[in-house]
Amino acid sequence: MEKIRFSRELPVSAVTDVLVVGAGPAGICAGIAAARGGAQVLVLDGNGCVGGAATVNLVGPFMTTYDARNEYMVIRGLFQEILEEMKALGGAIDPAEIPAEHPRSGFYRIGHAHVGPFDHECYKRVCTKLLVRSGARLLLYTQFVEALLEDGRIAGVVIHNKNGLSVIRARVVVDCTGDGDVAARAGVPFELGRVEDGNMQPATLFMRVNNVDTRRLWAHMREHREEIRPFYGPFSWLIREKAAKWGDVPRAEVCLFEGVTEGEYRLNVTRILDVDGTDAEDLTRAQVEGLRQAHKVFAFLKRYAVGFEEARLIDTAPAVGIRETRHIRGWYKLTGQDVQDCLVPEDSIAVMATNMDTHNKSDPGGTYYTLTKGRFFGVPYRCLLPMGVDNLMMAGRMISADAMAASAIRMIPCCMAFGEAAGTAAALSLKQGVLPGDLDSKLLRGELRSRGVYLGEGEK
Ligand SMILES: Cc1cc2nc3c(=O)[nH]c(=O)nc-3n(C[C@H](O)[C@H](O)[C@H](O)COP(=O)(O)OP(=O)(O)OC[C@H]3O[C@@H](n4cnc5c(N)ncnc54)[C@H](O)[C@@H]3O)c2cc1C
Repeated sequence: MEKIRFSRELPVSAVTDVLVVGAGPAGICAGIAAARGGAQVLVLDGNGCVGGAATVNLVGPFMTTYDARNEYMVIRGLFQEILEEMKALGGAIDPAEIPAEHPRSGFYRIGHAHVGPFDHECYKRVCTKLLVRSGARLLLYTQFVEALLEDGRIAGVVIHNKNGLSVIRARVVVDCTGDGDVAARAGVPFELGRVEDGNMQPATLFMRVNNVDTRRLWAHMREHREEIRPFYGPFSWLIREKAAKWGDVPRAEVCLFEGVTEGEYRLNVTRILDVDGTDAEDLTRAQVEGLRQAHKVFAFLKRYAVGFEEARLIDTAPAVGIRETRHIRGWYKLTGQDVQDCLVPEDSIAVMATNMDTHNKSDPGGTYYTLTKGRFFGVPYRCLLPMGVDNLMMAGRMISADAMAASAIRMIPCCMAFGEAAGTAAALSLKQGVLPGDLDSKLLRGELRSRGVYLGEGEK
């Protein structure tokens, strides 16, 4: 490839204690938590709104926040605060009200009880409000470009927006880009997808459909209940029967969740293989292919699926959803075995019971592993500390984990919990005058508990 040298002086457009790059579920909570901890905070995002995948990719519902026996909520803290605000506005339903085999749990028999249906507009509104109210400064339409390193620390972050290129200086940087863009540019080692073969989970363009006859649909699902399990799930029988009409959409089920409004469903059906979400050409191809599949799927459902006769397509997501890209190497790598063993390390900053869900390329049904050895597993603070860059932290789907563990911890509420922990730790380490890596995890866990985070105390 031809190369051209590009070198110039850049203005420093902002100086702050904590810079949060990315305002998805992780970044929102990192920003709020750090600001509440007394730090001066700037949160930037390339999009024109906050929310990340839960707004621009139309992803939802909130995957389960309950323990593996479905008895109580284990992801609390800021997630719960956001949920309560949304419920008060009528924009979310309490997960306690969502049983298995329900339209709002996607009719699944396992793993999806107590999900949280929500309205995107309300999510965006509440997250923006809480972020602004926390005192954090929000800078949208701004892309992270490069990390400037000095003595093993990030001395500045190059950004680009309508104002041109500039630099932000921060004492601590929290990478919440989902893809780990900051960590990768800062030279932290990472794995792209699965170690064995680099395979990444398929991409999906979500769509929303309304005017579905839920009563008839639900009755039809009950008739086929034995066939519904993750993931040869809803309408897998129809897809088999009408294989020629379903054609080249490489998915064996119609994953569909009723939202807050009756008869309105969010469809997670399109499936685009071999997409590297860190490559703009691949993302573009995925968007084009996702749109083609979405319209094909909708036409199929309208023609053949019980309950969809009068359905209307509201929209497809503005951008294709990427489940997996980089797994950034941190002080500890969470493994699928840790998840299966329900380990709760001493420095855990969150506990959760989300299931591992591989979405394998070779298997249009995917493989789904539920937790059987305990109520939940813990995610250590060390997974938020990238190797080799002292003032960098990370939160979100790219934290230090292998591909199996990442398939469980990538869910929206989990990423919120990591963001809350990283933001709290960033502010606390500045207060203590130490680097994030030198922060006493007992102190951090005490602070998180005082903020309403559940760390697995009591019942196990
Ligand atoms: C198809 C699909 C289905 C899913 N289903 C569910 C589900 O049903 N329930 C559930 O709970 N979870 C689900 N998830 C998982 C969940 O949505 C994501 O894993 C989660 O949103 C990740 O949060 P995050 O904050 O790490 O990253 P993101 O949500 O991706 O947010 C990252 C933010 O960083 C910004 N950003 C990235 N790079 C840059 C840059 N260089 N400069 C500036 N800004 C940048 C982005 O604009 C974005 O706003 C699904 C995901 C996908 C893709």
